Amino acid sequence: MNFELTEEQLRIRDVVKEFAETKIAPGVAEREKHERFPREILSHLAEMGILGMMVPESYGGAGTDALSYVLAIEELARVCPSTAVIVSVNNSVFCYPVWKFGSEEQKKSVLAEVASGKSLGAYALTESQSGSDAANQKTRAVRDGEHYVLNGTKVWITNAGEARWYLVMAMTDPAAGTRGITAFLVSAEDPGLRVGSPEDKMGLRASKTAAIYLEDVRVAVSRRLGGEGEGFTIAMRTLDHSRIGIAAQGIGIARACFEASVEYAATRETFGKKLAEHEIIAFQIADMKVQIEAAKLLTYRAAALSEKPGIRFSKDTSMAKVFATEAANAIAARAVQIFGGYGYSREYPVERFYRDARVTTIYEGTSEIQRIVISKHLLAGR
Ligand SMILES: Cc1cc2nc3c(=O)[nH]c(=O)nc-3n(C[C@H](O)[C@H](O)[C@H](O)COP(=O)(O)OP(=O)(O)OC[C@H]3O[C@@H](n4cnc5c(N)ncnc54)[C@H](O)[C@@H]3O)c2cc1C
Repeated sequence: MNFELTEEQLRIRDVVKEFAETKIAPGVAEREKHERFPREILSHLAEMGILGMMVPESYGGAGTDALSYVLAIEELARVCPSTAVIVSVNNSVFCYPVWKFGSEEQKKSVLAEVASGKSLGAYALTESQSGSDAANQKTRAVRDGEHYVLNGTKVWITNAGEARWYLVMAMTDPAAGTRGITAFLVSAEDPGLRVGSPEDKMGLRASKTAAIYLEDVRVAVSRRLGGEGEGFTIAMRTLDHSRIGIAAQGIGIARACFEASVEYAATRETFGKKLAEHEIIAFQIADMKVQIEAAKLLTYRAAALSEKPGIRFSKDTSMAKVFATEAANAIAARAVQIFGGYGYSREYPVERFYRDARVTTIYEGTSEIQRIVISKHLLAGR
């Protein structure tokens, strides 16, 4: 096992880190406060190849490995978790499935457009009754000649209203259960697609999340992703892989909180000594670092496994996600505690990271769902 990053991985990590610190950090508090979507930042990230990292260059991407993608998301989340989730959705729940399951025509047109960052992508699986219970889809797609007609409502869609392309799961054969779900590439310009008002979220306030309404949206058969009935498999395989991106988001948040805590503990004095000189605080800092390094090992390993031919990696990405995101929540909570009353103030970034961390154990499968995935694999002997 090799624990060294390659020169290319180090280069990508350092370039994204520098961009995040110099170009994203200055406006982050303002964008979060005013819920301003970071369009200008995304244009720069597109030029840097960060919006379609793993996609081959022939389809508009940067052709990097999965670990480079994880490193990039980590560096973005360390500064701005909102930007990190926008980028991770584009890369891993839109570009990845279109690259893996799309037709040559879809890859040359839609994928090339989104991977190069000319437009954004979104992933529309969740419905009001179908979050963890993802198979319980009510959105219908009915074949009509060379088209399908889609009707239904998707909720909690990241990048809704900003995306030009939506990967939408819909029921084509309700009697067939999960084998009756089909995936479609729906354009924001398709008549009948409407975006709801943005959700008023606890955190990630510079990212946009909204419902999308599909009312008699006609989608050409050529925009079906994969075969009829393959949508659920595509949706689950996508999440199996994309969870490394959310794990990376957790690591980035945890690192930011750790770094802020070290700095604060080294300067703030109580009872005549620095906070860091109180053993209980010093030990908390030690525990934060242990959790971060363990989260990195699980996540980097899952990223490496995801590229090995013939390896099933769902358990590994779920382990990485559950550990890294729960660590992020615990570390962000500790950071707020170390900052005392100031940790509760919007003046200090740990307050924002604490709110941003909260959703990482919820989206792309809650911690409970990750434990279901992990235990099912273990109990089946895999
Ligand atoms: C900010 C944000 C962005 C999102 N972006 C997207 C997106 O881009 N695209 C998209 O499709 N979706 C998106 N989602 C939706 C997200 O994936 C779901 O919210 C999530 O999967 C949980 O579903 P739910 O909210 O319906 O909760 P529920 O499924 O109702 O779960 C409620 C609680 O019950 C627990 N639970 C449920 N079933 C079980 C069980 N069998 N055993 C034990 N516990 C269980 C859950 O873990 C959870 O704690 C987003 C959500 C948020 C908050």
